[in-house]
Amino acid sequence: MASKFDVLIIGAGPAGEAAALAAAKRDLRVAVVDNGNLLGGNCTHKGTIPSKSLRAAVKQAIQLRTRPLYRTLGASINISYPQLLAAASLVIPKQVELHSEYLTKNRVTVINGTASFVNKNEVLIEGVHNFKETLTADNIIIATGSRPYQPDSVDFNHPRIYDSDSILDMQHTPRTMIIYGAGVIGCEYASIFHGLGLKVDLINSRDRLLEFLDDEISDALSYHLRENGVMVRHGEAFESCEANDHGVTLNLKSGKRIKADALLWSNGRTGNTDTLNLQSVGLEANHRGQIKVDEHYRTEVPNIYAAGDVIGWPSLASASYDQGRSVIDVITGREARFIRDAPTGIYTLPEISSVGKTETELTEARVPYEVGRAFFKDTARGQISGEDEGMLKILFHVDTKEILGIHCFGAEASEIIHIGQAIMSQPGAANTVEYFINTTFNYPTMAEAYRVAALNGINRINRNSYSGA
Ligand SMILES: Cc1cc2nc3c(=O)[nH]c(=O)nc-3n(C[C@H](O)[C@H](O)[C@H](O)COP(=O)(O)OP(=O)(O)OC[C@H]3O[C@@H](n4cnc5c(N)ncnc54)[C@H](O)[C@@H]3O)c2cc1C
Repeated sequence: MASKFDVLIIGAGPAGEAAALAAAKRDLRVAVVDNGNLLGGNCTHKGTIPSKSLRAAVKQAIQLRTRPLYRTLGASINISYPQLLAAASLVIPKQVELHSEYLTKNRVTVINGTASFVNKNEVLIEGVHNFKETLTADNIIIATGSRPYQPDSVDFNHPRIYDSDSILDMQHTPRTMIIYGAGVIGCEYASIFHGLGLKVDLINSRDRLLEFLDDEISDALSYHLRENGVMVRHGEAFESCEANDHGVTLNLKSGKRIKADALLWSNGRTGNTDTLNLQSVGLEANHRGQIKVDEHYRTEVPNIYAAGDVIGWPSLASASYDQGRSVIDVITGREARFIRDAPTGIYTLPEISSVGKTETELTEARVPYEVGRAFFKDTARGQISGEDEGMLKILFHVDTKEILGIHCFGAEASEIIHIGQAIMSQPGAANTVEYFINTTFNYPTMAEAYRVAALNGINRINRNSYSGA
């Protein structure tokens, strides 16, 4: 007889796990099915965790090369990519253990296998050794995540051509690397590889890097990548690529031919919907494999929900966790949050983070705003830590002083942003830039940058109103 659940979740990444835990806490009978060998989803095995761990390892390698203290100690500076991978991979089992423990403690039924719909309440699970089982559930959540997009014209079986999954298996250190696609993943890997000492060509199909960022921050990223030796090429389009025993040649529509030891293709992602047999329930994914949902994460079939990368933007682990939890709020009749605005955290070197509106958005919306800036090199903490490249920028309303956007680049930007995010989300007059002037912060900390930026912006307003009087 088929097992019956209140909620069946397909995929145990951030969205699926968060939904499973929230369902268990509400005493729902819940099962999660995942076709990975270990729990944690792509987030733990292919995406966020390995790439951030690689970055942390490469930061140490950079410090070994550049910090005066380590250089005096005569530390070795030749670190290979496999060494970096080995250091980074230590984190993954710890994460798997945590995720497994969460699900076990909360008595979530976990099933290993690939799920496909039989009908709107039944799902077939197929696993190893011809394992087959049909599960029945009142509600089903699709949380199957995404994978790198692989165009047919690129031979991903060639040992010199990688995507963001297979780059985690590269067992040598190329001297040169082309990264095609300068989205978040492409920029992050450009930082990792240039940090390791490779010559990197970063090919961008747009006119600027990460166009959704505030212009000044995007410019700062371009500047720092270039200053570190990354060749950033904007406005380029892929024509073809050839690989042989000696290297890879990328032919661009502009006529350029770029050669390197290896190519990392990081241009787009596809939702994991092809194994789900969606047609059996009358659902269809779009050309990117993504599923459309309404503001309650409901698909066109009322008892089938979707969350995480499989629904598209913002495709972040951070948002996926919240989306997964929110689906259970919907199912249990509580007020649910539809995640539209997640803060941006980009782990390039330097790190970037932002929340709220950009200058361009505010100008287009004709909102009168002022800018306050603080440079990390002018803060005591930045000088002491030696990580003094960076800037914090606060955008606030000229009249009400309400904080409208915060944009930051430099060390720990993705942590620093949350101080501002917390103040921005306060109700009423509590969300003004004046908070940073009237509050005592620990010293020396990077929080000081908020005070400096707030004073800088308020002083500019005072100057402007004085000269206008
Ligand atoms: C290189 C890289 C770096 C990233 N860095 C960050 C970052 O710094 N911060 C951040 O917030 N986000 C980051 N992301 C994005 C983040 O990893 C994803 O947003 C997140 O993993 C999405 O979670 P999810 O729950 O939707 O699915 P996933 O984590 O993709 O997990 C889905 C799971 O479902 C399983 N599955 C798929 N189909 C089936 C099926 N039919 N049956 C059973 N199981 C199935 C998959 O095997 C997988 O285990 C990064 C992504 C990449 C690729």
